[in-house]
Amino acid sequence: MKKLGLLLLFSMPLVIFTGCQSRVFRAEVEGYSVESRPIFMHTFGSGKENVLIIATIHGSEPAGEPLARELMAYMEKHPGFSCKHKVTVIPVANPDGLTRSHRGNRNGIDLNRNFPAENRVNSPRYGQQALSEPESQVLYELINRLKPVWVISIHQPLACIDYDGPGESLANAMALRCDLPVKKLGSLPGSLGSWVGNELGVPIMTLELRKEDSELSGSALWAKYGPALLAALQY
Ligand SMILES: [Zn+2]
Repeated sequence: MKKLGLLLLFSMPLVIFTGCQSRVFRAEVEGYSVESRPIFMHTFGSGKENVLIIATIHGSEPAGEPLARELMAYMEKHPGFSCKHKVTVIPVANPDGLTRSHRGNRNGIDLNRNFPAENRVNSPRYGQQALSEPESQVLYELINRLKPVWVISIHQPLACIDYDGPGESLANAMALRCDLPVKKLGSLPGSLGSWVGNELGVPIMTLELRKEDSELSGSALWAKYGPALLAALQY
């Protein structure tokens, strides 16, 4: 499962005091990919409710990473952004796939079909058993530990906001702040959405950016989609 456990990058968290409450920022290695690339998680704020934002579980959908990094930069600069949530961000959930621009991980497994949902299918592409891959184990263990009240997973290229579980009102709140429509794509076998939304009953939003968003800078992505992420954080 988790290789070497947690490696604390910054042994002393950065604590910022605001009129709201102290805000904490911490970066850790949550686990490792098949090729031993670290999977970083970044935690912001000290609210009571955990929320989780994941990007690039599909390595061929790179726009999520710079958007997630813009969000992290925003939260560092604006520590009073939310008193409610403790926000965990994983900017690259599939580092081996991103390195090669491949959808799957180094074993060719689609990580977003590798979760223990009832609708999962064992196959060479989806893994011969649930959680066969270290990258999906990292997310599984993290979600079980954090028990987030909602999850956002950033994908491309379907240009919509999909949701699983009781996520309709949060998806609508996000759609009011960007030009992506809310659209139900249906529960996919063994997807993170199926596991989190249907099995755990936790709202999960699949933020599907556009194909051409891969060409945009982080600041251009932030201008288009940042308000939707901030709407979620204030939800
Ligand atoms: Zn995807």
